[in-house]
Amino acid sequence: MTTVSNLHTHSTFCDGKNTIGEMVRAAVDAGLESIGFSGHYHTCWDFDDVQMHDPEGYFRELEAVKQKYEGIIKVYKGLELESHVLGEGRPVIDPRCDFTIGSVHYLANKGEHFTIDDTAKQWNDCLESFGSAEKLVEYYFEDYLSFAREMPFDIVGHIDIYTKLNEKHHLFDETESWYEPMVLCYVDKIAATGKIFEVNTGAMGKGYRTSPYPAPFILRRLLELKTPIILSSDSHSTATICYAFEETERMLREMGFRGQMRLTDGGFVSVPL
Ligand SMILES: [Zn+2]
Ligand SMILES: [Zn+2]
Repeated sequence: MTTVSNLHTHSTFCDGKNTIGEMVRAAVDAGLESIGFSGHYHTCWDFDDVQMHDPEGYFRELEAVKQKYEGIIKVYKGLELESHVLGEGRPVIDPRCDFTIGSVHYLANKGEHFTIDDTAKQWNDCLESFGSAEKLVEYYFEDYLSFAREMPFDIVGHIDIYTKLNEKHHLFDETESWYEPMVLCYVDKIAATGKIFEVNTGAMGKGYRTSPYPAPFILRRLLELKTPIILSSDSHSTATICYAFEETERMLREMGFRGQMRLTDGGFVSVPL
């Protein structure tokens, strides 16, 4: 395994199963040199039960473990931002963050909000609201593109997360003629914002998918565009800190990727894959 850092992790401050301290200990045991925490930013929606309710406690705990583990493992403070916060518009990037991930987990239509990575029923309700998978995916990417253009977050999280349940539930047909051209058109535009794209094994760790986000056709485009990538596990427990990193590194190297980004105290740098 060449990856010695993972920036996408969750803890009991949002929807993770383990405490920050337990996650750091697991990262040390896994041989990582640094770990970042990317707790779900609050969205103020009543139905959102993964959002963080105690950001002050979160940053206080991160500072405590950072000091406790100094010289053993580096701990970076981050957040996984959502594209919208009810009543506040865009999220605000907390100045205590060393990095941020920008993600879209919810879609709004006709005054209703839908979660696109939770259950097949919610995905189908969302599909019914938009009328077609084509409209749903187009709305998702329009939202993501404006989010990426307006907000200076560092990492584009799981760009095709709306496919999370598709392997098991066949919610829409990814081979239809509209799909790949539309996605690639948006990937080009989002990549042009200069952000790092995440290669995320989170849905593999939870048993939903057998391959990471993004799909191979998106990865091939990112390679052509020379877009920087970063491998992460989107881990919600100590058991998945480096889930499928070795096989994903192998796949990326076979595709032609030679490097990935890594966060240092001086910012992001490119390192060999
Ligand atoms: Zn996420
Ligand atoms: Zn996450």
